Amino acid sequence: MRGTVIHAPGDVRSEEVPDPRIIAPTDAIIRTVATCVCGSDLWSYRGINPVTEPTTIGHEYVGVVEEVGAGVTTVKPGQYVVGSFFASDNTCPNCRNGYQTSCLNREYFGGCQAEYVRIPQADGTLVAIPGQPSEALVPGLLAVSDVMGTGWYAAVAAEVKPGATVAVVGDGAVGLCGVIAAKELGAERIIAMSRHTDRQRLAREFGATDIVTERGDEGVKVIKEMTDGIGADSVLECVGTNESMHQALRATRPGGHVGFVGVPHDVNIPVDELFSSHVGLRGGPAPVRAFLPDLIERVWTGRINPGKVFDLTLPLAQVAEAYHAMDVRRAIKVLLQP
Ligand SMILES: [Zn+2]
Repeated sequence: MRGTVIHAPGDVRSEEVPDPRIIAPTDAIIRTVATCVCGSDLWSYRGINPVTEPTTIGHEYVGVVEEVGAGVTTVKPGQYVVGSFFASDNTCPNCRNGYQTSCLNREYFGGCQAEYVRIPQADGTLVAIPGQPSEALVPGLLAVSDVMGTGWYAAVAAEVKPGATVAVVGDGAVGLCGVIAAKELGAERIIAMSRHTDRQRLAREFGATDIVTERGDEGVKVIKEMTDGIGADSVLECVGTNESMHQALRATRPGGHVGFVGVPHDVNIPVDELFSSHVGLRGGPAPVRAFLPDLIERVWTGRINPGKVFDLTLPLAQVAEAYHAMDVRRAIKVLLQP
């Protein structure tokens, strides 16, 4: 089958890879209907995460179940499914607490930028869509498999409450989905921090009430000015750099919360600063699986359309172009069609 292999930074190739097959009785094989490139894939593409050997890549998917192992009971061949990037049993204490990315049996699986994918622990990992989605719904459902679920978690972790003032640091697909989440959770004022006009437009479409173009200390100053010197109730940190994390912390009011979902790279938070700030901090790899049923429903009924973050669609064979387009920020997020 056609898959995607990263050989070295900047070197992503569409090539022939072995067909996946059922290994454990709890596995399922899905035929990919749509997949995409994640901002986190760019860490390897840019050489910030080391690439030590050719590796299949990709972790977002919507697909049709082709085959299931003997032990799979909740999904069956022919069903459209969405799942998260960590396989989880969905039954252990951490899963029951809503933290499937800390599942006691969690397994990371990549290789989803491919025609077929093996999904471990299919019963716990996959959620069936209520029927066959129209073509228009596919991007939204694909977004749910990572960026929308991650943006949602950022908002939940930042304890967004009805009536709240929320700031979103990061205007990538996750940050934009964080705007959707903040709106759905009842935020009254949503400040998107963005310098790019196309992303600002989408943020407004998703519910942002204000745009702040300043960054770092300047950005913090503007947020403070907009909130009578106090800071935002909730700040969603969706980048993962030292600057963005400090920007998020300092833009939050005393007693407010930061939800951080950008994978941290060289982030250092002095505990004394955290201590004196009275800011609550929670983040980590989003337990997307916890939110899937709810988010699928919101997309299925047309309440939200996070699929708008895909501003470029390419055939899977052109995956190298997809990475390039995202790397140079010509595209927010690229949808790939096998
Ligand atoms: Zn579990």
